[in-house]
Amino acid sequence: MDTGKNLLEEKLLFTTLENIGDVLRNNPIVKAVKHTPVVGDVVNWGRSSALWPMTFGLACCAIEMIAAGCSRYDTDRMGIVFRPSPRQSDVMIVAGTMTKKIAPAVKRLYDQMPEPRWVIAQGGCASAGGPYNTYAVVQGTDLVVPVDVYIPGCPPRPDALLFGFLQLIEKIRRENPFILEERNIGV
Ligand code: SF4
Repeated sequence: MDTGKNLLEEKLLFTTLENIGDVLRNNPIVKAVKHTPVVGDVVNWGRSSALWPMTFGLACCAIEMIAAGCSRYDTDRMGIVFRPSPRQSDVMIVAGTMTKKIAPAVKRLYDQMPEPRWVIAQGGCASAGGPYNTYAVVQGTDLVVPVDVYIPGCPPRPDALLFGFLQLIEKIRRENPFILEERNIGV
């Protein structure tokens, strides 16, 4: 009976992506080759070639973000495909003025995104409060979530956002893809 149960457990081993990840993580061959530069380059190439930003905007800069996703600028051709859920996204574009009232919701969305994840602060408001130096506006996205790329302008044009993505791609290609694991940070 026990043998049957074990067989069943073995068959169920690959039922979820998490299980596949665990098996690969503990595989001695994978462990041995993981820290070679070629593997790091391939992982970073994969990550930087399929950035999935979350579909959400806070103010006027979001119109430019929408324009960047439409046919004239067409982010899809660069593998940048907008997703409707934070759980499917790895890039958060903070597009617009972040008020103190919306800041907890932005933090919650960021927390719902899986690692690895990156943040682009689009425009003067998201970067440093913009023209709104008031009690109601957060004076920079980095006070709420960590920011990887800042894009200046009020509003920055869609091509400025594309340039921001290119900078993010450069940054990802220079990262150590296994840094969280090395620091024993759970994802
Ligand atoms: S930077 Fe300018 S365009 Fe962008 S959200 Fe602020 S006021 Fe609007």
